[in-house]
Amino acid sequence: MQKGSFFENSKRLFHKSLQHIAFSDDALKILDRPKETIEVTIPVRMDDGTLEVFTGYRVHYSDLLGPMKGGIRYHPLVNLDEVTSLAFLMAFKCAVVGLPFGGAKGGVIVDPKKLSKHELERLSRGYIRAIYEFIGPDIDIPAPDVYTNEMIMGWMADEYNKISRKLTPAVITGKPVSLGGSLGRNDATGRGAYYVLRELVKALKLKPKNLRVAIQGFGNAGFHAASLLHQDGFRIVGLSDSKGGILTEHGTLDPSSIMRIKEKQGTLEGVYCKGTVCDVIDHKKVSNEQLLESNVDILIPAAIENQITKDNAGRIKAKIICEIANGPTTAEADELLAKKGKLVIPDILANAGGVTVSYFEWLQNRSGQYWSEKEVHAKLETMMIEGFRSVYSLQKSKKIDMRTAAYAHAAKKIMGAIEARGTTAYFKQ
Ligand code: GLU
Repeated sequence: MQKGSFFENSKRLFHKSLQHIAFSDDALKILDRPKETIEVTIPVRMDDGTLEVFTGYRVHYSDLLGPMKGGIRYHPLVNLDEVTSLAFLMAFKCAVVGLPFGGAKGGVIVDPKKLSKHELERLSRGYIRAIYEFIGPDIDIPAPDVYTNEMIMGWMADEYNKISRKLTPAVITGKPVSLGGSLGRNDATGRGAYYVLRELVKALKLKPKNLRVAIQGFGNAGFHAASLLHQDGFRIVGLSDSKGGILTEHGTLDPSSIMRIKEKQGTLEGVYCKGTVCDVIDHKKVSNEQLLESNVDILIPAAIENQITKDNAGRIKAKIICEIANGPTTAEADELLAKKGKLVIPDILANAGGVTVSYFEWLQNRSGQYWSEKEVHAKLETMMIEGFRSVYSLQKSKKIDMRTAAYAHAAKKIMGAIEARGTTAYFKQ
């Protein structure tokens, strides 16, 4: 493992919590490495007749608390260090909100924007053929992540069913509703983040209308969080995507109308001084870096990892940071933020809404009983608030930051499951 790698970074953040819990060295040894790592090659016949061979991964980090759970990412920069770290984060994320799951993650090195729909389908089905033996409703249950969506999950579940000659919807979550997906899964990550952020704001006795929010990343999670916050009266003043962003000094950006324009123009940058937004709101064009450092009360990184680093952490003005992306803050930056008294709602809590509704989908698939959207929202709200309260009260009682509290809370559960099987102290007696 390389020093400064994403995986090392994630473990450093976890290790900070160890001084606040009792644990055995055996538990730490087991949690130091993934249970297993699967690397596959996926040959795909391209539309022009040529053959491309893609590399894919599935990392099983831990199955100590239940079958493993985690999304599949399609991105040109996917690598084993990243997938391992994301699988590690999944194990802790599920434990923070009390799901009966372990942690896993998958990824394929590909720029999906360069593939045709047919190529994307062949790649997705090929990935499932390659990892077929390693997944299943009681083994490992994949789901969407960066640049994968419900259509892709539908193809994947369908491929699994064809190979096994059985209908097993619970093998993959985040499927289209018509293929056994859950109502409320699509906006679950953004909605879960909204619930925890709302709880923090309540606990701090702040008023949404006085809070300026900037969101880096306008994908599924960022967009839905922005919309719900906007509806609740928070002032959305900055939004960005991979190409750049927009910031307003006065007024509020309306995420839905901006999404409509983005869909037409292709990027958020395209929104700048084109179309209706420019006419009604006075806003300026900013880079992603400028957006992170903008003069706001709440910053929401909702894109990818390693965005808040030792180089820019000192310039972050927001008092509250709500991590919708996985791993947006490096360990060094985390120290700097803590020193400056920033309140960070860590990824393993803030973005747990997606996997929580995935859990609901898995339950519905297994029982054959389907829930209304209202039920899904109510159950998600309860679980997110419970997760938040456990972390927040631990943070207060131990006088630690919320990330350390979240890791301590999750680690107690995971390590407890290791220790229940016997420790060195027990066997040496
Ligand atoms: N990819 C999402 C995450 O990072 C969801 C995982 C899931 O639903 O299993 O939490």
